[in-house]
Formats: sequence, structure tokens, C-alpha cells
Amino acid sequence: MKQKDSLTYFKRGGITLFTDEKLGKRIRKFYPENLEVTSWETVEREFKKLLEEPIDSKEALMVFMEKFSEFYSIIAQISTEKYIKMTCYSDKPENHEDYNKFFSEIQAPSSKYEFLINKKFYDSPYRKELGKEYDHMNKIISRKIEAFCEKNIPLDAKENKLSSKYGEIISKLSTEFLGKERTITQLSVYLKDPDRTVRQQAWEKINGLIAGKRDELEELFDSLMEVRVEKAKNLGFSNYRDYKHFTKERFDYTPEDLYEFHSSVEKAVLPILKELFETKRQKLGIDTLRPWDTAADEDGITLKPYKTNDEFVDNAIKILHKVKPEFGKNLELMKNTGFLDLENRKGKAPGGYNTQLPEYGGSFIFMNAVGIHANVITLLHESGHAMHGFSCKHIPYNVYKRYPSEVAELASMSMELITMDYLDEYYKDRVDIKKAKKEGLMSTLNILPWAMTVDAFQQWIYTTNHTAGQRDAYFAGLMDRFNYGENYSGYEKEKALRWLRQLHIFEVPFYYIEYAMAQLGAIAVFKNYKENGEKAIEQYHNALKLGYSKPIPEIYRTAGIKFDFSYEYIKELVGFIKNEIDKL
Ligand SMILES: [Zn+2]
Repeated sequence: MKQKDSLTYFKRGGITLFTDEKLGKRIRKFYPENLEVTSWETVEREFKKLLEEPIDSKEALMVFMEKFSEFYSIIAQISTEKYIKMTCYSDKPENHEDYNKFFSEIQAPSSKYEFLINKKFYDSPYRKELGKEYDHMNKIISRKIEAFCEKNIPLDAKENKLSSKYGEIISKLSTEFLGKERTITQLSVYLKDPDRTVRQQAWEKINGLIAGKRDELEELFDSLMEVRVEKAKNLGFSNYRDYKHFTKERFDYTPEDLYEFHSSVEKAVLPILKELFETKRQKLGIDTLRPWDTAADEDGITLKPYKTNDEFVDNAIKILHKVKPEFGKNLELMKNTGFLDLENRKGKAPGGYNTQLPEYGGSFIFMNAVGIHANVITLLHESGHAMHGFSCKHIPYNVYKRYPSEVAELASMSMELITMDYLDEYYKDRVDIKKAKKEGLMSTLNILPWAMTVDAFQQWIYTTNHTAGQRDAYFAGLMDRFNYGENYSGYEKEKALRWLRQLHIFEVPFYYIEYAMAQLGAIAVFKNYKENGEKAIEQYHNALKLGYSKPIPEIYRTAGIKFDFSYEYIKELVGFIKNEIDKL
């Protein structure tokens, strides 16, 4: 059956590397191809039909779950197409209207039915007869039902409204710098400047802007905390940390395990980072490393990975092909189908993302590339997410395709590292390759102390009664505990207020430690690849193919690695990275 491509916005020229095929829409199993899902009336009717379906056996129960997944994919596909169109052509107001309308009229009300469907599964007597292979589904869905609390619905809305104020406050901040009005994001660019005075001034401007909003931000945070604590109480929890742990479906570790993670990073990672930053201090030729020096470029080389957009994409395809031919082919399929919109262009929304296109069993990557090294890293990272999507297309249940960040970011962060040895597709000069590799390896370690600081801070905030002043003081203490050589003397206030710039603490509480877990996992995958070559790629690919059908430790085990926060394990991994840096 011939399928019509609905998403060929970006016809690409260029040469064929490994395949000239395109992705096509998959044939539906339960619903007709012409099913109309653009009015709530018909969508609701379909949901009601699903809910009324008789279930008289465990087999029928699983068919019911599969049918629901297909229906949900049909809706998600349309919503994703509208989202892509909106971000690619963000200057057209009708695209925003179209997406927002579909979201508020169809997608948002669908979530209520998704809950009812899950409830039907949960309440079914046949659920207990399902085999071991459905244990994980049982666990996930049961938690969703048990975490539901009617009284929290208006509080969720209140929390959303409050947390959106954070972005409003921060995005409005700007000040004059070097003769121009600049936002915090624009000022941050100068933290890499070779001129130390420029860096210091930019850093002071950023911190001055935040300090000016200190009281407003602290008050906002207090209001957020109040709502969050109430939500926790409504579900019977004595504190918000434990509530959040429960509702975030963290099955495989406890908040206490994370304390072990904090101290393992403190003991195993800080000494190595101190050494690496001491070398940096010497290279910069300065007497002491200030907070405005850590991001500074020490050699003044600007990497220029490619000239044309075709080169940008084709080199990534070649690199992925070297890791595993199937990966390269998948990225080329995306290119051929028009599922890549990579170059910065007037009218595009900012940022970058990878999104699944469920009816295609493929992915779409959006970026704003301007020809710098960071764009290459982003493309390889997003390609990791895309390969995850391809690897899970055989899974018939939605619940197994929504992987948590500990799993999703393992796919993408590992891809950044296992492609590292093939960067010669972009760089011909050995000095450039060395710089690119060093940056990549260093960044795997840098993220760890900060992730621990953010987590330890939130654990304390939500389990201790405190004032705003005590909160800042506690944060300053954590900054000292996880310091790897930055000298803050004379800037104690800036140090204590640094947390006010971390969006997650305001908008997505407790979402951060997952990055550190996935980063450790990625280092382990990379180490496995260095030691075992192709076998390690097979293990990585097999882990991706599991989606979220198994608990996190089992997925990590399948990838040939451990889900482990112990000092010994972390020490082994960071030692490996240090060794890779020394070999450069
Ligand atoms: Zn990612």
C-alpha cells in the first residue's frame, strides 16, 4: 500500500551515501487510515469505545493495551507534525494557533482518558495473570494510578502558573554591555572571551542582574514550595522529596542512595577535576582560577567543522555508519525523507530537539546550526535519541516507549562519546581533533559535581524548615563542598545566589540527577567500546531495543554496564576518562 508523506518540508539535494530510500507511514493494525481525529467529538467517541471494550482474558487485555497505544500514536503523530511546523516556521502566527488549538482541544483532554484506560488495565482481574514479561508494565501503570490525587489537580495548575513566572523574570533581564543591551544568554558568550577583564565584567553583570531580582525570586520559590508541600501531604507523604521520588516513578534507587552518589563524586571526581583545572590555570597563565575563568578558551583555536549544510549532515551519516552501518542508514533515511531541519534560518524557533514520529517509526531532528563545534555535538547527541526511536519501533505499547531520562540520555550521551574517534570526518588537522576530543572528555566530568550540588540542595530544602537566608547559606556550603578550584573570595554573595540561575529547581524539581546517572552510563559504554569494540555496540543497541520494557538496572546491564553509584565504580570510570585525556 502506497503511503503519502505528509512531512516533506525539507527536500534535500546532495549525494546518496548508503541508501536512497525514504521512511513511509506504517500500516495501522486496528484503525482505518482515514480515521478522523481533528475534532474532540470523534476522538472522545473513540476513547469511549475503547473503555467499553469487553475484556475476558489476559490476551484480550494486552490487545486492548496495544489498540490504545495505536490510537494514542495517531494523535501524537498529528500533534508532533504541528509542533514541527510551528518551530520550523515560528514566524507564522497561524502555525502557533494551529498547534495550540490541537493541544488544548485534543491532546490535553486526552490525558484524562489515558488515565481511565490505565485504570481499566489496573482494575482488570486478568492483570494478575499476565506473565513475568509484563511485570514492568504492571509496575509503571500501578504507580501512575497510585500517584493520582484528585485534590492535586488544581494545585498542579497553580504550580504551573507560578513556575512559568520564573522564565518570565529571567528572560526579561538585560543590561548594557560593550555598548549594547544584552540578555543573560548573550552575556554568557563572553565568559569564553580570551580577554580576562571582559570575562570578569560579563560575569559580574550576569550576577548583578540576578542579585537585583533576589527577593522576587526567593519569594516566588517560597510560594512554589508551599504548593509542593501541600501536594505531598494530599498523597500522604511527610515531605515533598519523598512524594516526588514516588511520583517520578523512581523504582530503582532511593533518596538515600543519592547521598552515596554525592559522596562518591566528591571523593572520586573532585581530585581529578582539581588536577585538570590546575593545568588549565597554568595554561591561562593566571595566579588563581576565578569563576569567570573556568569556561575560558585556553588555546584560542576556533573549530570550524564544516562549510555547507550537506557536509554537516553527510559527515554525521558517515560517522554513524562507522559506529554501526544501520545507524548511518537510519540518519540518511531521515535526511531523504525530510526529517532533518538543521540550519539556523530566519523565522525558526530557538534551540534543538529530537522528536519521535510514531506512525513512521522514525524521528525528526530540529536544530539551529551555524557551523560551530557545539552543533556537531548536538547533532550526534540528537542522533543518539533518534537511534533509540528506530530501535523501539517494534514495541507495541506506549508505556514502554516513554523512557525515563536515565535511559533516554544514556542513548544520546553514549553516542556523543562512541563517535569521538571518527571526528576526523569533520576535522583534518590533528590539533583540531585533539581540542574537540579534550572538550568532549572534560565535559563528561564537569557535569557531575554540579548535578550533585543541585540534587543535594533540593534534598535539603524539602526536608528542612528554613528561611531564605538559611537556604542561600546552605547552598554556599554545597558550592564549597563540590568546588574543584574556583576562587570565590570577595564574591560570597554571588556564590550563595548561584542556584537562582538553575531553571530546574524552579520549574522541574528534582529533575537533574538523571543527567549525572546517564553521563556515568555513557562513560561506561564508551569504556566498553574502547575495550571490546563491535561487541559493545551490539550491547548498546540491544539496550536501546528494550525501550523501557525493563527496569533501569537491567537496561544498563544489557548495555554491558552497571547502574551503580559506588565510589569504586565511579573512580574506575573517571580514571578511564582522565587516562583518555592524558593520551591526547
Ligand atoms: Zn538529550
